[in-house]
Amino acid sequence: MPLPIKSLPVVQNWDCHATGACCKEYRILLSPEEAQRIQAQGWTREELDGREPVVQASTFGTGLQLNHRADGSCVFLSDQGRCRIHEKHGYETKPLPCRLYPFILVPAGVEWRVGMRFACPSVAANRGRSLPEHDADLRLFAAELVQREKLSLQTDGSLTPPPRLDNGERLDWPDTLRLVDGFSAIVRRTKEPVELRLRKCLHVMTSMRQANLSDVRGKRLAELFQLLTSAADQEVSSSPTQLPRPTWTARILFRQAAALFTRKDHGPFRGEGLSGPFARLYAAWRFARGTGPVPRLHKRLPEATFEDAEIPRGPLPADAEAVLTRYYAVKISSLQFCGAASFGMPFWRGFELLVLTYPLVMWASRLYRDTPREKAIIDSLTVIDDHFGFNRVLVTFRQQLSLWMMAGELSRLIAWYSR
Ligand code: SF4
Repeated sequence: MPLPIKSLPVVQNWDCHATGACCKEYRILLSPEEAQRIQAQGWTREELDGREPVVQASTFGTGLQLNHRADGSCVFLSDQGRCRIHEKHGYETKPLPCRLYPFILVPAGVEWRVGMRFACPSVAANRGRSLPEHDADLRLFAAELVQREKLSLQTDGSLTPPPRLDNGERLDWPDTLRLVDGFSAIVRRTKEPVELRLRKCLHVMTSMRQANLSDVRGKRLAELFQLLTSAADQEVSSSPTQLPRPTWTARILFRQAAALFTRKDHGPFRGEGLSGPFARLYAAWRFARGTGPVPRLHKRLPEATFEDAEIPRGPLPADAEAVLTRYYAVKISSLQFCGAASFGMPFWRGFELLVLTYPLVMWASRLYRDTPREKAIIDSLTVIDDHFGFNRVLVTFRQQLSLWMMAGELSRLIAWYSR
């Protein structure tokens, strides 16, 4: 029997508003069956601007992807911004990644959890039909995903093993989901600012990490989580201004992370500061120095200086808080921050990386000096989320080391950029 799809714990809407942006910005990897299906559709080179429909995904690899034009757009995107596969052969014949976007389906125990890519402007702006109205499509996508990824039922009724915690230890699926749902409940406490909720999550996470969980399972794990949440309520300062400024080292590492998360290498928003090895080296040096104009690594980001990004803007308005509440609730409840959905990232490390997106979004939003706060937050979120869970560089040794070195400063970074 197919696994059910768990509803999101927040109201999230979406519909495609046919901006065509996703068809210009991403590489679409194909399964062998999808590649064969497209080849069999009989596309001629004349129809595709003299290009083949399908090409190797990398020079030495064996994977295949849809071909694209010099500007990064998919070879099937028409001048009117429509998909030619869809127009000529029907919606169902498009590759699964095209139909699934911006949803992410994560097998979690005996159910599917639904994640969303906030890199899609319609998701970030909450525009369209509510998620339950997409359930029929999601069930079909889930069935297709099982075939595409060759997933099979394990003895515990799940499709994949749970994510590792950090050092190889794994909880079982019910206990993993106890933690996930516990953190999800904290980030949905709308009476507190998002920054405080995230700092409380970090406090709980640090205590859980230090505890020996080997004998704490089931109901006892839920009780421990509750106990640590109450301790966080008592011990975490409600005022971000009471936290010291992040250290000099943390600020340099943070700006390096900002460079990585605000970089666009492909498509129409490709950054001007990425035009060659010297430009990239110069941009890296500018980010390390942290003064003067911010190199434009993404055309969606406005021209601004590092000094602009350090100017406090005060508490967020309610509508901007609401966007971020949705974001963290969706990312946590869907387990998009770890395991299979995030290149095998361990649970706690993935959670730290997710929390790091908060100061990154706040930092980037300050570059939009003349934009209303809610819009600045939405625009920054679409830039930052483009990488979250989708940039393999984030799981390289160098980036993991950098995250490890920043981990003790995350609360300070959150507080500093929430001022
Ligand atoms: S195949 Fe169609 S939907 Fe997929 S990226 Fe190309 S144009 Fe877009």
